Amino acid sequence: MQNLKFTHSLSPVGEGLIRTDSHGVIKDCDENAAAIFGYSASDIIGTDISLIVGKTIFEKEKNIVVNTGSGSTKHYEAECKHKNGKKIFASVSTFPIKDDLAKVTGFVHLIKDISHQKLLDEKQATLAAIVNSSDDAIISKTLKGIITSWNRAAIAMFGFAEKEAIGKHISIIIPKDRIHEETVIISNIKKGKKIDHFETIRVAKDGTERHISLTVSPVKDRNGKIIGASKIARDISIRKEAETQRQLFTERLQELNKYKDEFMVMASHELKTPLTVVKANLQVLEMMLEADSRKQFIGKTITQVNKLSRLISDLLNVSKIHAGKLALDPELFDINVLIAEVVSNLQETTKDHHIIFQPCDPALMVNADRDKMEQVLTNLIGNAIKYMPEQGEIIIDAIKKGADIFVDVADSGIGIPSKDIESIFLRFYRVSGSASSFSGSGVGLYISSEIIKSHGGKMWAESEIGKGSVFHLSIPAAP
Ligand code: ADP
Repeated sequence: MQNLKFTHSLSPVGEGLIRTDSHGVIKDCDENAAAIFGYSASDIIGTDISLIVGKTIFEKEKNIVVNTGSGSTKHYEAECKHKNGKKIFASVSTFPIKDDLAKVTGFVHLIKDISHQKLLDEKQATLAAIVNSSDDAIISKTLKGIITSWNRAAIAMFGFAEKEAIGKHISIIIPKDRIHEETVIISNIKKGKKIDHFETIRVAKDGTERHISLTVSPVKDRNGKIIGASKIARDISIRKEAETQRQLFTERLQELNKYKDEFMVMASHELKTPLTVVKANLQVLEMMLEADSRKQFIGKTITQVNKLSRLISDLLNVSKIHAGKLALDPELFDINVLIAEVVSNLQETTKDHHIIFQPCDPALMVNADRDKMEQVLTNLIGNAIKYMPEQGEIIIDAIKKGADIFVDVADSGIGIPSKDIESIFLRFYRVSGSASSFSGSGVGLYISSEIIKSHGGKMWAESEIGKGSVFHLSIPAAP
């Protein structure tokens, strides 16, 4: 045995023999064994085995072999050192060599490189840990639907223990009226198609339903052949419940909103009638008190009643728009004439502002609701006056371009911050800061833009803080 020569290795690649004396000095070694550690045989013959295999392990094994006197083979796995400094793993079987007096004089070590296997084992263990710690149920099954693995979350989600589920058909968790889904899933899997986030219902052992989102992928063998499917089921019961609740709330809110709109329409109507009577009586009184000093009080009261009446009309319009009931009463008219009328009415309300309108085109005919267009122009020019506290000019242009008529109202007032420029057309939106010190309800531009939209046109604004604003509108010209 002492003269054993391993030079011509008979063992397969990745497996080899090393002979040491009783102290661990390598006396012989085949090329395969040396190659496992990145050496050639001549490199390591004469060196201590600790160069490649941990000395402590060797010592421990030697002691057991020698001291027990059993002379039997010992087997162990050792973490070894490759020539390049990397860690490798070897499976080592140690055979004692004895002399005629049965004294151990050395060892033969059969070494097998198991690094690859170790790596696979570690990967396997990591994957198993991931699968087991997942909150999603991870289940694998054959193409016939037989369950082959069932993780911890699957146990929690469906109530079947691992041994109750493995070997059973997947239909144990499929509601009877959804069995067809499995046929579709399997036929897709057979074609190599993945099923992504399919929302469905499955049943637990106790019969309770689980809303889940399913992702099913084909499982292939080494040769790429599809041999089964792995499915990940995420419990979306809480989300589904929240969605149902939200749906209910939305419906309830829509219902309440409808009541509110109906109430607003009714209340505005009811308020308008007595207010009209109050205003008519006040006007009669005003006439009767011709030269009386008390007449001024009647005049002030009429102004306030007018304001109230406008507010009520605005609210009524908002409700109608919201309910999609804004009716138009179109007629053919020249918008130049309407602008001139509104300008003259509003010019009477202010001495500090000069409203300029010089029509460029002789007639700009539109087929529109004249009262509503008057309301829009009054709102735009009224705002230009209101948001220009100092004196200044308001310039109005109207022009036909192509099939549309464009009207611009420009002021040199306080301007609008760019972040608000689109929001000012929303219901009840008012710009915060200094702009909010002007009285208003935030519905004028909303009503105006809705009126323009319902005529098939659009409205937008440009503005610069401190410099002024330009409000644009376009509506189709009469054919
Ligand atoms: P209101 O004037 O009653 O508040 P509007 O809907 O007419 O409501 O206008 C919405 C907001 O847009 C106003 O609160 C104001 O901040 C801003 N705004 C409208 N027109 C102008 C303007 N010409 N110049 C500056 N800001 C304006």
